Amino acid sequence: MRIVLLGSPGSGKGTQAIRIKKKFGIPHISTGDIFRDNIERNTTIGMEAKSYISKGLLVPDSVTIQIVENRLAEDDCKDGFLLDGFPRNLPQAEVLDKGLEKTGKKLDAVVNLDVTDEIIIKRMANRRICSSCGESYNLLFSKPAADGICDKCGGKLYIREDDKPETVVNRLSVYRNQTFPLVEYYNKKGILITVNGEDSADKTFLDILSSLERLP
Ligand code: ADP
Ligand code: ZN
Repeated sequence: MRIVLLGSPGSGKGTQAIRIKKKFGIPHISTGDIFRDNIERNTTIGMEAKSYISKGLLVPDSVTIQIVENRLAEDDCKDGFLLDGFPRNLPQAEVLDKGLEKTGKKLDAVVNLDVTDEIIIKRMANRRICSSCGESYNLLFSKPAADGICDKCGGKLYIREDDKPETVVNRLSVYRNQTFPLVEYYNKKGILITVNGEDSADKTFLDILSSLERLP
């Protein structure tokens, strides 16, 4: 399976990615995670990406596309992958299609998580991430057992810098202007699946699975 996860920031891509990855046994490639890892390790890529991410802007395609191409060339992506956060604009989508075409491959499905801006803003304000294992929590519907502590590993929870309300507004407008056109792009190709991302994570996952079964 070659799947792309689409949806505005905070629509639950990361949460669904964990479930999809388990179900299909495919590697989960999150460009956001790759950038955050690079920022933490102070790499050249990290230093370049940081200024864009903290403003809620897209990292330039020249950087992003290279990272994804390298990752997709790794052996574990041979038979399938789940892309989360890429592509995020039309040029990225076209590069992805062309790259796959070259080796006679194509995407099987693009899963679009549909959530209103109102709910997105609420969710982001309540999102907390584990500083040590990366698990994400939401104080509204998936609270950790102990305040500020990860259930899984005991790590400290933090608020992502780009989840600040000012930055969230920018991320939503970047999504609307640059990423949303991909919904129509993939719809035309007949591989788009849109599911309601406002249900519980488990219900949304079941919707994704049943929609995947219905694809030709
Ligand atoms: P979210 O989906 O919650 O906005 P991500 O973790 O996917 O968060 O991405 C965080 C940030 O990383 C984005 O706001 C953007 O600055 C950068 N980024 C991630 N993926 C891409 C991409 N494909 N192209 C450009 N920038 C990206
Ligand atoms: Zn943890």
